[in-house]
Amino acid sequence: MSRLAVVFGGSRGIGRAVSQLLAQRGHRVVVLSRNKEAAQATAESLHGEKHLGLSCDVSKEENVQKAFETISKTCGTVGYLVNAAGINRLYIYIYILSKSEDMLSVLHTNLLGSILTCRGALRSMLSHGGAIVNIGSVVGVKGNSGQCVYSASKAGLEGFTCSLAKEVATRNIQVNLVAPGFIRTDMTAGLEKEEAVRRIPLGRFGEPAEVAQAVLFLLESPYITGQVLLVDGGLQLAS
Ligand code: NDP
Repeated sequence: MSRLAVVFGGSRGIGRAVSQLLAQRGHRVVVLSRNKEAAQATAESLHGEKHLGLSCDVSKEENVQKAFETISKTCGTVGYLVNAAGINRLYIYIYILSKSEDMLSVLHTNLLGSILTCRGALRSMLSHGGAIVNIGSVVGVKGNSGQCVYSASKAGLEGFTCSLAKEVATRNIQVNLVAPGFIRTDMTAGLEKEEAVRRIPLGRFGEPAEVAQAVLFLLESPYITGQVLLVDGGLQLAS
């Protein structure tokens, strides 16, 4: 059955791969990111018709509210929500030296952003059912030196996901989290690759499409909720 899928952070990287896979499966996709042109360009590039690209900064409550108003007016009921919008300030290497504005920016985007978008989507899912996948991170599960605030945002998202899963289960809504390891996107473009690859048992970075596969699996699994699925080439075994 074709559903309306809303993908925050859908213009690039993992979110873009999720949007592509959802469109290939025959779903109508709303792609959102801060950059409106990029969101629209991705929506236009998707398989099939009637996809939509919108601008939305998930860290801003009024932006999220407006996006869902537009979605419900122009597209109808949300069936799937994917939260792939995220930032990682790579220069926050030493926690004690982190600037407050960078910490807040990471927390507001990665944690509060998904909390706000879930609320927006639930307003229509509560009466029709649906499925949500939040994108966390292996470092939210295992921690990583140099990524204290980023890890905190992702660990918080895991707690939120599990609690929400319990809270909305009776409404036929599944809420799960996919926790990627090192994936080849803009976010990891500046990383020292050789050093990172040495830590990954499968010996390579993952591709966005490989994360998208896991997201789709969870969206289409009606009896799985409150799960954390690591897509990390075994990184959690090594750390
Ligand atoms: P990219 O940097 O490639 O893409 C990030 C996406 O999020 C873009 O579409 C970007 O568009 C959007 N975005 C960023 N900030 C906001 C915001 N405030 N509001 C709305 N959209 C926003 O990142 P990835 O694809 O690599 O990451 C996707 C998710 O996966 C993130 O949550 C990240 O933390 C997580 N992750 C990634 C890993 C990796 O190795 N790549 C590993 C583990 C987790 P725009 O800039 O136009 O807003």
